[in-house]
Amino acid sequence: MKIPLVDLQVQTSALRNELLNAVSEVMDSCQFIQGPFVERFEEDFLALHGGEFAAGCSNGTSAITLVLRALGIGRNDEVLIPNNTFIGTAEPVVESGAMPIFVDIERESYRLSLVDLERKKSSKTKALIAVHLYGLSENIEVLKDWCEANEIFLIEDCAQSHLCRFSDRPVGTFGVAGTFSFYPGKNLGALGDAGLVISNNRELIEKVKMWADHGRRKKYFHEFSAGNYRMDALQASILSVKLRYLTEWTNRRVEVAREYDRILSKMGFKLLKPIPSSSPVYHLYVIEVSNREQVRQAFKNAGVASGIHYPVPLNCQPAFQQYGYQKGQFEVSEYVADRIISLPIFPELEKTEIAYVCDILSKEATP
Ligand SMILES: *Cc1c(COP(=O)(O)O)cnc(C)c1O
Repeated sequence: MKIPLVDLQVQTSALRNELLNAVSEVMDSCQFIQGPFVERFEEDFLALHGGEFAAGCSNGTSAITLVLRALGIGRNDEVLIPNNTFIGTAEPVVESGAMPIFVDIERESYRLSLVDLERKKSSKTKALIAVHLYGLSENIEVLKDWCEANEIFLIEDCAQSHLCRFSDRPVGTFGVAGTFSFYPGKNLGALGDAGLVISNNRELIEKVKMWADHGRRKKYFHEFSAGNYRMDALQASILSVKLRYLTEWTNRRVEVAREYDRILSKMGFKLLKPIPSSSPVYHLYVIEVSNREQVRQAFKNAGVASGIHYPVPLNCQPAFQQYGYQKGQFEVSEYVADRIISLPIFPELEKTEIAYVCDILSKEATP
């Protein structure tokens, strides 16, 4: 049996005609930049996910860049971020000129360690970027309180958590802004790159829009030098089509995760448990094994794809050595990075396929 980690083919083929119509509509209108398609997607997304204001942009990394710029964060500032995330959370901090301060996680939940947050905060700390990693909500109310008490901006990286909720409130609406990615492999993916910022603060979204579009409110009048981080009308139009299926796809992801939970919990593996008051959306399904190389080889032989998210924690990346980060500084995130494995998960994954994956784990993997 051949099982990919993510199957983009099924969705794209099933929606082929609808997507082609969306592309035709943009072509016929010739409104390729800004304009009605981007505005429609911003509205559609808010209506489904929640949040008050939105600004489309070029990708999930630039979404964070734009928020940092709109908040005026830069040189001599520090920004806290989890040590176990995709580099796209950290690069915007470097680009802004601020210092990225990595924070370790808790062993059980993989969520930010409050002890380490306390240790890492300083008089220079301006923001915390919390990541709802794997489509599981961070302990976001606690982080919100902590940020408020310390007068630090809370930014939520929701690149893996479209439609995820905490206490029945959408992620991305707890902090000053939430950022999304529509990279093709995300829960909602474009046919290319795209991103979005949401916020309940209109002024912030207006600033984000200016930072995304040459520092202007109107044509040829530039209030500051900003650059171009706009969302394509073509991607916006495609995303409005795919958005109609996101609830259904998300429900299927949750069912797949429940089936994995049901089978694997009997085998003694460490599974990630979502916070009771949250609704996870399972961008990834991650477990720990102690013999990962052996398991990955067995998967490979059986035609099953697997992944590691992420194999190298930020402090061990050559990209951040310039800040004095090195191996051995982050006990939990480094330990976990050697044990985690991501199993295939996508809406169309079938029960027989889940059983097949779990059968290999039961034979080859040790908890
Ligand atoms: C994908 C991702 C990003 C970056 O999004 P791009 O659209 O690829 O730039 C940032 N943070 C996290 C957690 C991600 O998973």
